[in-house]
Amino acid sequence: MTYDDKNIFAKILRAEIPATRVYEDNDTLCFMDIFPRADGHCLVIPKTPCRNLLDASPVQLAGVMATTQKVANAAMAALEADGITVQQFNEGPGGQEVFHLHFHILPRWTGVSLRPPGQPGDMARIGEVADKLRAALI
Ligand code: 5GP
Repeated sequence: MTYDDKNIFAKILRAEIPATRVYEDNDTLCFMDIFPRADGHCLVIPKTPCRNLLDASPVQLAGVMATTQKVANAAMAALEADGITVQQFNEGPGGQEVFHLHFHILPRWTGVSLRPPGQPGDMARIGEVADKLRAALI
């Protein structure tokens, strides 16, 4: 399996399509998922190309894990979450739909189930939550 730079997250990295950006450093970017399964559902990706966990380098993995931890802690504080679910899928049969490595950060609250996948989010609400996350990351 080879990396295809026409995937949607590569286009977000090149700013060819919009995204609600939450955090970035030299190596990684975090932005909001537009089909959020929970308030604050966001994605962490490396800025360099790889399909998923299977072809990522240790350096790419270290970068995305550090950012995932940073944003997860920000979500706990800013959104008063009770927990965080982190998801990561590999290849189509493994549940992956976008073939640029990404980790899902899903804030969780006691008694609140994840929403079904594929439901478009309210962009105003996504923007409000992103503002709270950004404020906690300063
Ligand atoms: P996976 O590949 O792990 O199954 O999930 C891909 C994720 O990307 C899904 O949660 C989906 O909602 C999200 N997604 C798909 N297209 C876009 C897009 O254009 N922008 C953003 N921000 N997220 C997207």
